[in-house]
Amino acid sequence: MPVADQQQRTALHRRAALKTAALYAVVACLWIYLSDMFLELFIQDPRQLTQAQTIKGALYVIVTSALLYLYLGHCLQSLRKQEDRLKEEQERIQQEVAERFQQLNTLFNSMNAVVYVADMETYELLYVNKCAIEHFGSSWQGRKCFHYLQSGIEEPCAFCTNPQLLTNGEPGDTVTWEFENLKNHRWYECFDKAILWTNGRLARLEIAFDITERKELERIKDELLSSISHEMRTPLTAISGFAELLLNEEELPQHHRKHLEIVLREAEKLSELINRFLDARRLKINRSRINYRDLVVAELLEKALQGTRYCKAKHDIRIDCEADVMVFGNSKELIQVFSQLLENACRYSPEGGEIVVRAETVADETILCFSDLGLGIPHHELDNIFQPFHRLDTGDRRRTGGVGLGLSVANEIISLHGGEIRVESTPGKGSTFKIILPLPNRRATAPDIESTGPGQT
Ligand code: ADP
Repeated sequence: MPVADQQQRTALHRRAALKTAALYAVVACLWIYLSDMFLELFIQDPRQLTQAQTIKGALYVIVTSALLYLYLGHCLQSLRKQEDRLKEEQERIQQEVAERFQQLNTLFNSMNAVVYVADMETYELLYVNKCAIEHFGSSWQGRKCFHYLQSGIEEPCAFCTNPQLLTNGEPGDTVTWEFENLKNHRWYECFDKAILWTNGRLARLEIAFDITERKELERIKDELLSSISHEMRTPLTAISGFAELLLNEEELPQHHRKHLEIVLREAEKLSELINRFLDARRLKINRSRINYRDLVVAELLEKALQGTRYCKAKHDIRIDCEADVMVFGNSKELIQVFSQLLENACRYSPEGGEIVVRAETVADETILCFSDLGLGIPHHELDNIFQPFHRLDTGDRRRTGGVGLGLSVANEIISLHGGEIRVESTPGKGSTFKIILPLPNRRATAPDIESTGPGQT
């Protein structure tokens, strides 16, 4: 029963008790006064009058005691009834809550994923499901999440204190990441969400799927592809070299020349695929950042332009960059990214047209924009093009070439530099790829980029 209702009821009961007491006092006084007057009318002898008054008083006490007994009995009975009703209601509610909890528990326990809830301030575990117990043991009650789920950690980890979970102090969007737990050496894909717990406090709900097998398969596939790629490099170099040598023969029949050109083109394409794949793998494995320096953007763009193969006479490339625009990074990697974007701008503008590269320093960032007037990219593909091997169907893949790894490698390199790549595009009108890189003084405070997400495992 709500507190306000309870207070109202108590006040009502008090008023009723006061009314009853007042009525009793009035009736009693009237009775004493009137009965005394009545006795005095009929009895003149003072002794007899005193006796009659004593008998009247005794009768009064007996009658009122009997009435009081009946009244109190009635009150006690209704109180008992009320108490029984309340008890029944309480039991019903308790049973309902237990049933609901049982249903939810069955649901979470039947999930093949670790589910737990931890207080966001004290980090104390509030709930863990059966799968979590199977993975991390049964002694979870009264323990902090980082003690129970991780090993060798004495302070809240990046999972516990993840600021992305809250938006202005309120539960925000779900945050997802993958990480290897060093307590049981298994990989998990985690979905974290801030929620309001039953006690009104903010809590972190995590659902973590075991992806160890998938990760192992990925690792085997990666290693296999990597060794195949390395093994293929030598024969490919021989194929390209001999094809080029034969193409230099002046007396080569025309149809043989055509076939050799196809061999050379396909060998180069395969070689590009292998190089890009090995680049991507190298970045994934070796995330240590070396050879970082202050670099002049105009010089990097100049070198990138020299290395581009697809830009032809019909492309009018304009570079708009002041000499003092600087970035902090690895020159080889940044030239690779810039030439990739320049090549893409040319390749996906088959009709030619102007390609503008603009670089400038805005506040504490260096911003580079690569704009073309080419085929453009449909809105729903804008995020996908950064996925490895994702290519759009331009209807003429042979002519545009490519293997779908260029942008994913570029994106990886830029994020390792603490920056980001964005794209804006209108199909049929062209695209603009924007690179945002922090200046050296800001990079010191930029977050570390971890392959396994925000978790310190
Ligand atoms: P690819 O080797 O296929 O060019 P990328 O990773 O460089 O691989 O690009 C992925 C896809 O993004 C391309 O297949 C292409 O469809 C699209 N794309 C990239 N740059 C542009 C651009 N400037 N204009 C239009 N589409 C582009």
